[in-house]
Amino acid sequence: MSNTGNLESTCIFCKIINGESPSRIVYRDDLVTAFHDIHPVAPLHILIIPNKHFHSLNLANIEDEPLLGHLLTVAHQIAIRVGVEQSGYRLILNTGPDAGQAVFHLHFHLIGGRRMRFPMG
Ligand code: 5GP
Ligand code: ZN
Repeated sequence: MSNTGNLESTCIFCKIINGESPSRIVYRDDLVTAFHDIHPVAPLHILIIPNKHFHSLNLANIEDEPLLGHLLTVAHQIAIRVGVEQSGYRLILNTGPDAGQAVFHLHFHLIGGRRMRFPMG
C-alpha cells in the first residue's frame, strides 16, 4: 500500500491501517480506510481516515486537497453501500480541544440510521 512511510507508531488509527489493531473495515483503497467506530453513537457510525497520518485537519496543506476531496467521495460511496444515501447521514470532523478531538489522526465520522439532532454543539 502507498503512504506506509507516513504512519505513526503510537497512533491507534495508524495501527488499524497497518493491521496491528483489529477493526471492522468497510472500505479500503490506496488513500483511505473506513471502519466501524468502536463506540457507535448512531445505528451507523463509520470512521473514514486517510492512510497517511495527519494529526488533525490543521496539518493538511494545499497539496492534500485531492486526498481531502477523496475522503468526501468515499463517504458518499459508503453511504450508498450501507443504505443511508436517501435517508440521510451526517459527516463530522472534530479538530482540536474545543471540538473534543480524542484521536489525533484526521478522521471523518459518518453517522446515520436515525434522525439527527440540530443545531449541533
Ligand atoms: P474524535 O472525538 O477524535 O473525533 O473521535 C474519535 C473516535 O474514535 C471516537 O468516536 C471513538 O469511539 C473512536 N475510536 C477510538 N479508538 C478506537 C479504536 O481503537 N477502534 C475504533 N474502531 N474506533 C475507535
Ligand atoms: Zn495515525
